Amino acid sequence: MTRIAFVGLGNMGGPMAENLIKNGHSLTVYDLNHAAVEKLVDLGAKSADTAKSAITNAQVVISMLPNGSIVKSLYTGKTGLVNHLSKDVLVIDSSTIAADDARTVAQACKSKGISMIDAPVSGGTAAAQAGTLTFICGGEKEDYEKAKPILQCMGKNIFHAGSSGAGQVAKICNNMLLAIHMIGTSEALNMGVKQGLKADVLSQIMKASSGNNWSLQVYNPFPDVMPNVPSSNDYQGGFMVNLMSKDLGLAQELASKSHSPIPLGSAAAQLYELHKYNGAGMKDFSSILQMLQDKS
Ligand code: NAD
Repeated sequence: MTRIAFVGLGNMGGPMAENLIKNGHSLTVYDLNHAAVEKLVDLGAKSADTAKSAITNAQVVISMLPNGSIVKSLYTGKTGLVNHLSKDVLVIDSSTIAADDARTVAQACKSKGISMIDAPVSGGTAAAQAGTLTFICGGEKEDYEKAKPILQCMGKNIFHAGSSGAGQVAKICNNMLLAIHMIGTSEALNMGVKQGLKADVLSQIMKASSGNNWSLQVYNPFPDVMPNVPSSNDYQGGFMVNLMSKDLGLAQELASKSHSPIPLGSAAAQLYELHKYNGAGMKDFSSILQMLQDKS
């Protein structure tokens, strides 16, 4: 049993924390949203009023937060947790943030003798619930090995991508590709349906053909083709357009820094930005299909 402080209990962090409890770990949780905290308390977690009090006695700290500025302000600066953590604590940040932000936090931890890895995840809320996430880690190999037994309670595939920040680089590459195939899948489905095909029949055909991809397999954007996906629940839950838009911004930064051409990644960024400004920011990212559909 490990004493774990968990900060950020949203669509992903909530079920991840739940799986740690199911695996016998002792959790103290903190989130700005009290309802999210209460849900975990009902499952056996202790609640804390602040992030600082959540880490008292913790052996491992896990954060699952929306963006890099929130993660940096949690850990670094005068009020940051690095000033209150003991040296034997392992920090695991699973949020998707810029690689440079992850390195800044890791460096701040290191200056106090604290170990930190970036460990963003892939798989979506269904994998978070099932405990089958993919973890993509960056940091010292030794710290990755220490984190592995904890990550295995929440995930199935645990990778060491390289040094600090490498997990975030791999995650951003993956999410840029995810956005591209979600848009492509939506375009193909919308066109086929407008030509009189049934969305479920077309999906079956493409899944058995060369257009097969993750969006078709487990996250179909067309309502009622699959149960238990956001498109069949009015695009609620899942992975918000706001977050996808943030990830595509990170992909563009990475592309500029590395002088890598990303014409499709840039187009995807523009489409999600437009979708966000049309009011879809809080919807699941598969709602990009709605932007292509006839409005009448
Ligand atoms: P979410 O918005 O559902 O959850 C974020 C949680 O953080 C919320 O409960 C919010 O109240 C809390 N929070 C925000 N600021 C806080 C603070 N200062 N202190 C404490 N709690 C705070 O987001 P999510 O979908 O769970 O995503 C979290 C991270 O995981 C993001 O970086 C996202 O890009 C990444 N991610 C999401 C998915 C997905 O499918 N949703 C998949 C992979 C990765």
